Amino acid sequence: MTTLKQRWESVEQSVEEACASAGRARSDVRVIGVSKTVGLDAVAEAIEAGIHDFGENRPDELVRKHDAFPDERWHFIGNIQSRQLDKVVGRACLIHSLYQTKHADKIDRLAGEAGIVQPVLIEVNDGESNKQGVADDELVAMLEHCAALEHVRVEGLMIMAPIGDASVARATFARLRALRDKAQAEFAQRGIDMDLHELSMGMSNDYPEGIGEGATMVRIGRAIFSADYAG
Ligand SMILES: *Cc1c(COP(=O)(O)O)cnc(C)c1O
Repeated sequence: MTTLKQRWESVEQSVEEACASAGRARSDVRVIGVSKTVGLDAVAEAIEAGIHDFGENRPDELVRKHDAFPDERWHFIGNIQSRQLDKVVGRACLIHSLYQTKHADKIDRLAGEAGIVQPVLIEVNDGESNKQGVADDELVAMLEHCAALEHVRVEGLMIMAPIGDASVARATFARLRALRDKAQAEFAQRGIDMDLHELSMGMSNDYPEGIGEGATMVRIGRAIFSADYAG
């Protein structure tokens, strides 16, 4: 058994190593502690250990934890349901999992009512293991749709790699980065103002691969919060 603080230190060390071997600065990568399986006590312990970005995948939990710890940064990383979006908009510093235009429109409306601009990432499908995310060839259209929304700001892309094989994960992340570079170049050429600087890619089992391919955010749950995580 390990303590949260020990696990966090070990994650931090691996993140530093992955940054060093990719020739990147540690400050280029933000670690998001995915607290979706733990309660308020563990979040308090994590804050004490120095974690200030947290990820949640259920709106009610986001509300509960955000309201308990309003000074921390709360990321929404879960499946979006239209009727729950009012709980997420404004509370989430970043929504990682947007991929449908109807949800973008609703976020725009809710953010407009609240007088804010909601930062989001567009989730891209990994092409095999899951259903969420836009397909590669629909990404530009989705980004264009969002570029026209006054109260939604797209800051980058997110992906979940298939579980299991590190080389597959790495290829998935490389593909996301290439897609981002291509979309960014296209928007620049067309004079559309969009800065896709964030790449949210990498979880407990594949964050070194994410960092190696340019992740600016890694979403780590078990490696931080699970006492029996073996790595
Ligand atoms: C649960 C979850 C994570 C964290 O996964 P771990 O394997 O526990 O690190 C990251 N991203 C998303 C979208 C998740 O749902």
